[in-house]
Amino acid sequence: MNRDGRSRTRTYAVGALALLALATGCGDNGGGAAAPAGGGTSAAAPRPTGAAAPTSAAGTPAPTAPAPAGADAAAWAKWNLKPLAPAPAPPTDKPIKLERTGTVPVFSEVKTTDKVVFITIDDGAEKDPKFVEMLTELKVPISMFLTRDIVKNDYGYFKPLQALGNHIQNHTVDHPVMSKIPAEKQKSEICDAQSALTQQYGTAPLLFRPPFGDGANTPTLNNSVQQCGPRAIVLWRESMQIHDMQYQAADKKLKSGDIILAHFRGPKELKGATMTQMFGDLLARIQEQGFSVARLEDYIQAPAS
Ligand SMILES: [Zn+2]
Repeated sequence: MNRDGRSRTRTYAVGALALLALATGCGDNGGGAAAPAGGGTSAAAPRPTGAAAPTSAAGTPAPTAPAPAGADAAAWAKWNLKPLAPAPAPPTDKPIKLERTGTVPVFSEVKTTDKVVFITIDDGAEKDPKFVEMLTELKVPISMFLTRDIVKNDYGYFKPLQALGNHIQNHTVDHPVMSKIPAEKQKSEICDAQSALTQQYGTAPLLFRPPFGDGANTPTLNNSVQQCGPRAIVLWRESMQIHDMQYQAADKKLKSGDIILAHFRGPKELKGATMTQMFGDLLARIQEQGFSVARLEDYIQAPAS
């Protein structure tokens, strides 16, 4: 439909924004986050994923959706990693409940006592086949916040990652600083990306992340998001660099429920390191702090449709 309208004239801008994203860590200014949605009462969302998980050790039936991180020791060894503990079964009562209409919540963490963190990967510039191999083997869940004009030259790259159960989320058409553009332009940035991603990946993004976290808590951006379909604005607590994370917390430690920001980046942006080396280092930092990685969308209740 109207997906690729203006994109051709913007090729140069994508290159520029890739540099900008690198220089700024794609928004390490995205700090403060409001509390999750005020207690929603919407009905349970349908969860189309997977087969029922096995019965837990306690004998109680585990909720649906298989626990991620189920790779075997050999797979971890192949990537020179210590195995992450498998994530617990997803909570049946979701800590974040999204509403179908109205103001969207802004959050950078999930309230949970599970010893889990969530990995989000942004933009989509680097399309390294080795990373698909790595995720296929390690089965670590991720959420992908994709920028239309950065992924449109190869939408297909992300499909095997999606086929692993990972969700595609909205990260604008071409990565602008949202607070610097008028409301109408904000809306087209979000809505045009929403329709392109929906068309390409067959499912509408539920979540939105503004580039650099910019404008996340402004009424203007909230209103723009509301008009395009996503039902939450997602920020982060830690930002992966090359070998380690930048922490917002003074103690530089992961906490249960933290959302981590990473990027699809390659050697040019990572001082020679590859996407899989960066991601391996991220998993090592998570493993050594005793956390496992859970799927963010498993902790969020979508609005009743
Ligand atoms: Zn970004």
